Order: sequence, then C-alpha cells, then structure tokens
Amino acid sequence: MMHPKFQTTLLKQHSHLPARVMRVETPHGSFTTPAFMPVGTRAAVNCMTAHELTEAGSQIILGGNTYHMLVTPGAEFIQDSGGMHRMMAWNGPMLTDSGGYQVFSLSQNSKICKIDEDGAKFKHPDTGQLIKLSPESSIETQKIIGADIIMAFDQCTPDAGGRGVAEQAMERTHRWLLQSIEIHQKNTQSAYGYEQALFGIVQGGLFRDLREQSLAFLLKQPLDGIAIGGESIGYSMEKTVEILNWLTPHIPQEKPRYSMGVGLSPQDLIDVVACGIDMFDCVAPTRNARHGSLYCGIFEITLDNWVAFIPGEERGRILIKKSQYRSDHGPLSEGCDCYTCQKHTRSYMHFLFKTNSPLYSVLACIHNVRMMHRVCEMMQKAILSS
Ligand SMILES: [Zn+2]
Repeated sequence: MMHPKFQTTLLKQHSHLPARVMRVETPHGSFTTPAFMPVGTRAAVNCMTAHELTEAGSQIILGGNTYHMLVTPGAEFIQDSGGMHRMMAWNGPMLTDSGGYQVFSLSQNSKICKIDEDGAKFKHPDTGQLIKLSPESSIETQKIIGADIIMAFDQCTPDAGGRGVAEQAMERTHRWLLQSIEIHQKNTQSAYGYEQALFGIVQGGLFRDLREQSLAFLLKQPLDGIAIGGESIGYSMEKTVEILNWLTPHIPQEKPRYSMGVGLSPQDLIDVVACGIDMFDCVAPTRNARHGSLYCGIFEITLDNWVAFIPGEERGRILIKKSQYRSDHGPLSEGCDCYTCQKHTRSYMHFLFKTNSPLYSVLACIHNVRMMHRVCEMMQKAILSS
C-alpha cells in the first residue's frame, strides 16, 4: 500500500493577520488548519470513541503520550498490537509527543525522576524498574507508537529559575534535537513502514533573544514543523501571545507551527491562531467536561473578518452541577451543533452529572471537543473569506 508523504500547502493567508489556513497531508490522510488535537494520553481520548471524535470534527489527534505509553503498556505491547492507529481504531492523522514535558513535571520531585545530559531516568510507578527516556529511546518509542508526526525530545523550560536555567534547558534541547534527528534519519519510517514527519521544539523561556536563538537553530535543521514549548505556553496566555509574536514572523510559510498545550478555552485558540499558529493540543476540554465545566458561548465572524467568542453564562463555561440547571431545558450552549446539544438539555445533563452516570462524561466530552472544533472551523471560514 502506498502512503502519501508529509506535505503542506498554504491555502490562504489572512488579509491582515498572521492567521492562515493550511492543508497538511500525512500517511493517514490530510487535515486543514487551524486544527485542535484532542489528547489521548493513554491510548484513549477519555470518554470518546474514534467515531465520536470524527463526528465532533476531529481531524488529527494526539495519540498517546510517549511517557505514559512507555510506562504502561510498554513499547512491546504497542508493537504487538500493530501500533497506536490500530489500537485506537483511529485511521486519521496522528501526532505524538516526545515525553519531554512529562519527565519535566516528574523531575520536580527528584526522588521519582532525574534529568541529566543523557536524558531522564525514572522508576516505574508500579514495578520500581528503572526506565530511561533519552532522545534515542523517545524517537524509537514514537516509531513504535507510529504517529504521523513525532516530536524531538526536549527539556521543558520552567518559568522559575531565571535566565541561566532557561539558557541551559535551551542548549540541552538543541543537543537533544541533533541526537533526535540522527536517530530519526537512520530510518525515517514508523515501525509499520510509512514515513514520519519530525517537528522540533523551540525553548528559551520568557527571554526574547533566547527564543529567537532557539528558533534560528531549529530552522537550520531538517525539520517538518516547528513547535513552541515551555511551561508558560498555554498556561499564561499573555506570555504565550507575546512569545508567539516574537517567533512566527521568522518561520517560513510552509512550516506548520504548533503551540504545545494551548486550549484551556475556545478563546485561547482564537488568540494563538491570530499569532500565526496552526496546531494545538490540550487535555483541558475533556478534563473540564468530566469535572462538570462546559463551554458556553457564541462564535461570530467580526466585520474585519476575524472570530469573536461571546461568552454565555458564567463567563463562558457553565458548571452543570449548579441547581439552577435542574430545570433548564435549553441546550448546553446556544447554537452548538454537537450531538449532545442536538439531543439533550442542561436539565438532563445536570441529572446525569448528579447521579454519576458514565454517560454524562461521554456527552460532556463530545460537547467541549466540538466547541473547540467549531471555533477552528469559524476561524478557517473567516481566514478564507478575508
Ligand atoms: Zn454542544
């Protein structure tokens, strides 16, 4: 079977914003940006089947975090199962991460995980067995996961620690990038015989010159796309937007730009796409949904061909447990075309939540994920008509 290679086509640049629409072809089909990627941390997007994701408008998913998959079930199990596409019954484009962010989080407790020049060493949470995540083992695991887009192994930059810490993390990320590229280029295919694209990650913390230096280093390497990482990205939107605006003007048009961990709310997607970002992932929409926080608001195309999110009740997210929804027979969000809003009421969702029904989580995740895709579809429309 012939698989198409990774290829990008810029379909439209917004008339007066850095926002753009791009078609990205992968061995598992194409997706059109701006594209939100739901996250399947442990080989599952919580509460949603591949069919429900497709129905909600997902084009590409983050299929399994490398760190979590390496811990359980382990690379051998994934390979025996035929890879992550096969396991998840997801036949569309897939990206996976390198594990860099997860080991960074774990390393806050040095008893659990230590990071040095060779990579991260951590104890298996159940068996106590020592596991190493290095540029080499990260890329090899990502080949077994079999994602269409894989990430170079990086050291995430903490916000605390100042310039020295940011500079060290950036320089190590660059050394690890070169090692990641070397491993990838020995065989650019997945364990299942199709080509994988490799993205690098810009670090440099909150320092403009370091960020620019990091991007310049990445642009000299044979990379298919540019990701922007670090603790502040997606967490502080003010800093995220500032950092993205330093970088995106310098990235060649044909390279997809991915801001990692962005998407606490639909507004965050509008903010980063306006900076010229094409792709983003976040666990928040499904996590919020399960905890009873449901996006609520209207998307409108503005006079200058951009998109506004007009928050509904409770500043754009309703807390479904509140007694006021007990007899509210309206949809979760006015104007939402998701399965849940078409078929069910706030009253019913309140009841399911209060009775701990597993069905609540399914319906809630469908709605929140659809809201993220709807805002992307609106932005696409606004850009194309600008
Ligand atoms: Zn809905």
